[in-house]
Amino acid sequence: VPSLYIVPTPIGNLADITRRAVEILEGVDIIAAEDTRHSAILLNHLQIRGQLLALHDHNEQQRAAALIQRVQQGQSVALISDAGTPLISDPGYHLVSQCRAAGVPVVPLPGPCAAITALSASGLPTDRFAFEGFLPAKEKARDDRLAALADDPRTLVFYESPRRLLDTVQAIARLYGDRYLVVARELTKTFESFHGLPAAEMHAWLSQDENRRRGEIVLMVAGHKPDAEALPSAALRTLKLLLAELP
Ligand code: SAM
Repeated sequence: VPSLYIVPTPIGNLADITRRAVEILEGVDIIAAEDTRHSAILLNHLQIRGQLLALHDHNEQQRAAALIQRVQQGQSVALISDAGTPLISDPGYHLVSQCRAAGVPVVPLPGPCAAITALSASGLPTDRFAFEGFLPAKEKARDDRLAALADDPRTLVFYESPRRLLDTVQAIARLYGDRYLVVARELTKTFESFHGLPAAEMHAWLSQDENRRRGEIVLMVAGHKPDAEALPSAALRTLKLLLAELP
């Protein structure tokens, strides 16, 4: 059946492509890729010669209609992104939702995803977690998002850039107190590392050496542990504001 296939690609180690992913990429008529030049390197390595078409954040809405038409005409399409699972902090959402609305079959392949890979070896609870993708870039919006998650009992999983890691960890230390963090770096690559510390110590440790915040990063935060005595963090913030107003 002509379909849209969602095909995860490696997040560093090329051996992580699945056999099924290779079969599907070999068989489809069109490979829609976030960055065609980037994906050409992977496809060359796999010796796959498919027709590549760019599908990124800026043209996804228009391209989706054209791709749906191709599937309806009997062609199959694979969607890939630069790394990992498409749609996970990557393009593809509009395409998939429009396919579903049009009754076009969407077939997902399981495969690499940095968030799940990091979480699985973090040592933090995995029974409940919240994937939060990238935090907003602006400080105020970032702090608002972090504040909204302060009482969440689930492990929080963020994607973070090396440029912003220090500031984010500092904000977490300020807003959450001494919460335990795990930084997973360069997963599946030569310099893969995991490091866990309470927020303030993590900030100090990361500050000491730039190499400790290089590369690709997943930041995980232990969930909030409710203290029977303590007020919820929203109440504490309100209290703090009220106290500041007192003469
Ligand atoms: N779709 C991808 C996935 O399934 O994981 C994520 C794409 S997102 C644009 C890229 C971010 O994912 C990076 O900035 C980093 O936070 C995280 N990431 C991707 N590869 C990674 C790796 N090998 N090690 C650690 N984090 C990684």
